[in-house]
Amino acid sequence: MKGFGPKPKFIRRKRLEKTTEQAAIDFAKAEGVLSRKMNGASFRAWPDRAFMPPELESGKWEAAMPILWVEFKREGQDLTPAQADLHAVLRKAGQRVCTCHTLDEFKQHFCAYMSDDLGLEDYRL
Ligand SMILES: [Mg+2]
Repeated sequence: MKGFGPKPKFIRRKRLEKTTEQAAIDFAKAEGVLSRKMNGASFRAWPDRAFMPPELESGKWEAAMPILWVEFKREGQDLTPAQADLHAVLRKAGQRVCTCHTLDEFKQHFCAYMSDDLGLEDYRL
């Protein structure tokens, strides 16, 4: 083929948002935490996903356990103003909200949520 030059051996591609989101879903599910897609039609500013508090050993949820709301973004991408506003509203309502560009970032927020917000001992970083 002419005009394209030598093929690069390695191209670093930014991880797709949906790839990170799926990896986060799988990670959380393995920890017993279920989630729900949230930003459907007419809900564009909402975080991508709500992660529910895990059921406690007692089989019950404590009162006022916050939900972990997560906005997934490609690396280098920022929140829209509407998303930032809604995140502030959710935080005021006592919810845990974060923006994640990578799976590692998600894991850090997830562990902080499990230990700080829910008081689960095994998740201390
Ligand atoms: Mg997103």
